[in-house]
Amino acid sequence: MARVLLLLPTTTYRNRDFLTAASKLGVDVVVASEQPSTMEECHPEGLLTLDFKDPDAAAIQAKAFHAKHPLDGVVPVDDDTAVVAAAIAEALSFPHNSRESAEAARDKSRMRRLLDAGGVRVPSFRSVSLDAPAPKGIRYPAVVKPLFLSASRGVIRVNDEADLGAALSRVAAILNEPDVKARGGPLARQALVEDFVPGQEVALEGLLRAGSLKVLALFDKPDPLEGPFFEETIYVTPSRLAAAIQEEVAETASSAARALGLREGPVHAELRVNAEGVSVIEMAARSIGGLCARTLRFGAGLSLEELILEHALGHGVEDVVREERPAGVMMIPIPGAGILEEVRGEKEARAVPGIEDVVITAHRGKTLVPLPEGSSYLGFLFARGETAEAVERSLREAHANLEFVIRRLP
Ligand code: ADP
Repeated sequence: MARVLLLLPTTTYRNRDFLTAASKLGVDVVVASEQPSTMEECHPEGLLTLDFKDPDAAAIQAKAFHAKHPLDGVVPVDDDTAVVAAAIAEALSFPHNSRESAEAARDKSRMRRLLDAGGVRVPSFRSVSLDAPAPKGIRYPAVVKPLFLSASRGVIRVNDEADLGAALSRVAAILNEPDVKARGGPLARQALVEDFVPGQEVALEGLLRAGSLKVLALFDKPDPLEGPFFEETIYVTPSRLAAAIQEEVAETASSAARALGLREGPVHAELRVNAEGVSVIEMAARSIGGLCARTLRFGAGLSLEELILEHALGHGVEDVVREERPAGVMMIPIPGAGILEEVRGEKEARAVPGIEDVVITAHRGKTLVPLPEGSSYLGFLFARGETAEAVERSLREAHANLEFVIRRLP
C-alpha cells in the first residue's frame, strides 16, 4: 500500500477530507502535526510530531521515519507546511518545490520581488518596518498587509496618510500576538504597502507537475472586494469571464509559478483583472483553504484531496477535468465581534434550491473576531446549479435565511 506523509497544521478544517480521500484511494496516511495528536482515525504509528518551524529538523526526522516505514509522497496543507514539505521531499528525493520557492510563496514581499523580476504584473509595493515611523510618499488608495498571514487577516485598504498610520498600528498589534509573532519570526516586524488594484477578482486552483501548470478550476469572486477589509465570501466556478481573459489569467498564473520557482504540487492564486491586464495578488503553494475544496469534483467524482494525493504519489492526473456543472461556496463572514449564542435558519437555508450543504463551523460560545484581526469564518454554504448565476443566487438566498445571534462584549 502506498504511504503518504500529510502535514497538518493544528488549525485546519481539512483533516477529515484528506483522510476520507486517502481511504477511498487505499492510501496509507501518516499524519504529521506540531503537537502530539490523538486523531481517532489513525493508528499511533501513523502519527508523527514535527516542528514545522524547523524544516531541517523535520526533514531529518521524516527521513528516519522513512527508513523504517517507507513513504511515497508528502503533502502540505497550508503555507507554513509547504516549506516543511519542500525540505522533506528534498531529503527523500521526491519531485519537489525548492525550499526557496516555497518560502517565497509564503513571504509576500519576496513574492512581489520575484514576480516583478519575472515580468509578472504586480501592484507597486514597498516593505516597511513596523518599528519605524509610517513611510511618506505612498500613492493612494493603497493596501497594507502582513507578509505571511492568510485568509485576509490584517489586509487593510488605506485612502490617505491618516488611514495608513492607523492601519500600520493595527497590523503591528496583530503581529504582536505571541503565536503570530512566533510563527513569523523576522517577518512579523514588517508590513507590505502596495497599490490598491481595482477590478474583478478571480481565484485559480492548479496543480504543477515538473513546472507545468494544470488549471483545475477558475473561480469568480462576484462580491465587490473594495475594502477596507477583504472578506472572501463567494466563490463560483466556472468563471463568467470571456474565454480570452480566462486564458490570460491562466498564462499569468503559469508565469507567476515560474517566477517563484514553484514546480510541483497544488497552487492557489488570487488575481485581479482590469483594463490594464491581469495582476497577481498572491500565489500560495497549497490548495484552496477552509472547506472550499468541497465545491470541486473531477472525472467520475474525485475530490480535490484525492487528486492531490494521487499527484503526490506520482500518478498522472493531467487528463482529469472538473465536472461541468457550475458550483460555488460562500464562506460565511463574521458580522460583528462577540460570543456566538445561536444560529437560526439553518433548515431554511438548506431548503433553498441548489443548496447542497450548510456547514456551520463556529460552535456556540465561541468568541467571534471579525476581520482584520480575526481570520475564521462562521461556516460554509455549498451550491450547485444549471448556471453560475443560479449558484450565486442560491448562496445569497441561503445566507439571507441565516441569523447569527451574537452577544456583544462590553
Ligand atoms: P491573504 O494571503 O491573507 O489572503 P492577500 O494578499 O491575498 O492576503 O489579500 C487578501 C485579499 O485582499 C485579496 O484576495 C484581495 O481581495 C485583497 N487585496 C490584497 N491586496 C490587494 C491589492 N493590492 N489591491 C486590491 N485588493 C487587494
